[in-house]
Order: sequence, then structure tokens, then C-alpha cells
Amino acid sequence: MRQIILTGDRPTGRLHVGHYVGSLKERVILQNSGKYDEINIMIADAQALTDNAEHPEKVRQNILQVALDYLAVGIDPEKSCIFIQSMVPELTELTFYYMNLVTVSRVQRNPTVKAEIRQRNFEASIPVGFFCYPISQAADITAFGATAVPVGEDQKPMLEQCREIVRKFNEVYGETLVEPEIVLPSNSACLRLPGIDGKAKMSKSLGNCIYLSDDEETVRKKIMSMYTDPTHLKKSDPGHVEGNPVFTYLDAFCRDEQFAEYLPDYANLDELKEHYQRGGLGDVTVKKFLNSVMQEELRPIRERRAYWEQRKPEVLEILKEGSAKAERRAAATLARVRHAMMIDYFDGDALLH
Ligand code: ATP
Ligand code: MG
Repeated sequence: MRQIILTGDRPTGRLHVGHYVGSLKERVILQNSGKYDEINIMIADAQALTDNAEHPEKVRQNILQVALDYLAVGIDPEKSCIFIQSMVPELTELTFYYMNLVTVSRVQRNPTVKAEIRQRNFEASIPVGFFCYPISQAADITAFGATAVPVGEDQKPMLEQCREIVRKFNEVYGETLVEPEIVLPSNSACLRLPGIDGKAKMSKSLGNCIYLSDDEETVRKKIMSMYTDPTHLKKSDPGHVEGNPVFTYLDAFCRDEQFAEYLPDYANLDELKEHYQRGGLGDVTVKKFLNSVMQEELRPIRERRAYWEQRKPEVLEILKEGSAKAERRAAATLARVRHAMMIDYFDGDALLH
């Protein structure tokens, strides 16, 4: 079977280090592994509009920013097809057919949808489009026949729902769609990177992010002002590493060899954690180390971003070509879906018999 990837991001803001460790880094590894026949990376503008209907300018402005972030982390348009969701209208049509295969109560039970409704204070006024976005995500994934979907942990319920839709479709209309597998980061700290304010998830909508496009000084300031352990008031106090985002970021980013370079008193992160838990290690030392580690990772990303920022017309061209290619791919699936559903009325004259 052909190995195909579909993944994407909402253009609701620039991409941050949570996206990087949760999904982007893995995508680049998969892209360069040579194991995939096709890689599709979608800028999910239609999905972004489901909770930003009144702010189309916000979504529009972020299209190019997200594309720049992709190119900055090493997504290569020669190997990966980068496209814009709304430029592939076949996805909307598939969504419409899949809606008949899902019950309202099933979407209501989706834990990510529940959490996001709470987070957006939508309780009494959920836009129907927002409510249906797990179904539209299933359309995106299946339109490309994706076998693998590299995403953060918050997307697990979406993938589960997508797999159910595939099974239901195939059961009702015959074997047509491919069931995808989720690809989660192997490092558990990367599954759901917390915000710099210590909130459970770094998220564009919560404003607690370190952006891939932040300059060196902004990153340093954000790290130095990060939430840590509120019970660790004096350097001599014993501290907690669980639920302390500074240590979660170290779990996500640092490598043993970086201790020799930046903090030679410790051999590895376990030793640093032990000292913090024992007491006698100040937050500033840990934050300065985290800053060195993160700057090392972000520097080449920043440089590639600057390169592409000088070449925006080329980026637009990449998006145009990618969207045209994506549309051809989705149209082939839609034709199969229409045939399976017996709504391919003008395909030959079978309707007459
Ligand atoms: P929004 O607040 O608009 O939903 P977001 O920051 O949640 O934005 P998305 O575009 O919804 O970003 O998510 C894009 C991808 O990044 C998804 O695969 C998601 O799982 C992953 N992701 C987002 N935030 C994090 C995070 N804090 N840690 C790990 N992965 C994340
Ligand atoms: Mg999100």
C-alpha cells in the first residue's frame, strides 16, 4: 500500500515551539526518511474560519506566516505538497457526505471538541461549522488516502472519529476509504507542550507561546519570565519538576551533550532535576540553560525564515502549485466516493437502465 501523509495547521497565528516539537519536527523527519510516497501539508484556513468567522483578515494574514514557518523548519516543497484547504473545494463536498454518517451526540462526546468549546466560551452559541470540524478533518485525511497523520496529542480524538467515519463509509458504500494511523511524538514531553504561563497547552489562542519567528531577545525574555514552581521561592527550597514547564521544555529540547557545552556541572537532565528537587538550585540557572538550548534549536529556523521572507512571491507560487496538485489528488478520491455512493449520475448512461 502507498504510504501517504496528511497533516496541517490552522492559520490562526504564527507557529510556535509546541507545534514544532508536537508535529513539525516529526514531519520533517518523516519527509526526509524516504519512507513516504506522498506528503501533504495543509494550511487549514476553512477550519480556522469555523471559530474566526468574523475575522477573515486574521486568517488571511496568517496564511503566508504559516507557510514561512513550514519552510523555516525544513519542510521542502520538492518533497511535500503544501496547500491551502479552501483552495481544494472537493474537501467541502466530502465533508457534506460524511456528515450523514456521524451523530450529533458522537461529536458532543469528542473530548477535544468539548474542551475547545469551553475554552472559547461557546457553550450556548456553538457555530454549526465549528461543531462539525472533526468531520471536515476526516474529509481532509481521507481525501488524500492518508495512512499516517503526524499530529499532537490533542488530535487523538479527531483521528479516532475519522477512523470511525472510514469504517462506517466502507460498511455502507463498500470498501473505498483508507483508515489512517496517528503518528505521535515518541518523547512524551512533546505530546502537549505547556504554555510559558504553565497552562496545560501552548496555544495560539491562549497567547502563551514562544513563536518560531520570535527574535533571540524575545525568546530570552519569554524564557526568563516563565512560570516555574510556585513553592520554590528561595534557591535553597526543594523544588518540583513535574508540572514545571521549564523542565518540561528541557525534556522536550535538551540533549545530554549540551550539558558539557552550557552547564558542565551536570552530566545530564536527571542530575539537574535531582539538584532542583533537593534544593540549592535557582530558577535563573535553569532558565539560562534552557535559553541556550532553545536558541541553538531556533537559530537555523530563524535563518531559514529570514531567507524565505525575502522571497515571498516564490512562497505564493509554492502554495499555488501545491493547491493545484492537492486538488487533483482530492478530486480522484471524490470521484471514487461519488461512484461508491451511486451519485455519479452522468458517468456513462447507467442512469437510464
Ligand atoms: P488554535 O489555538 O487556533 O487551535 P493551536 O496552537 O492549537 O491553535 P493548531 O493549528 O490547532 O494549533 O494545531 C496544529 C498542530 O500542532 C496539531 O497537530 C496539534 O496537535 C499540534 N499542537 C498544537 N499545540 C501543541 C502543543 N502545545 N504541544 C504539542 N503539539 C501541539
Ligand atoms: Mg488547536
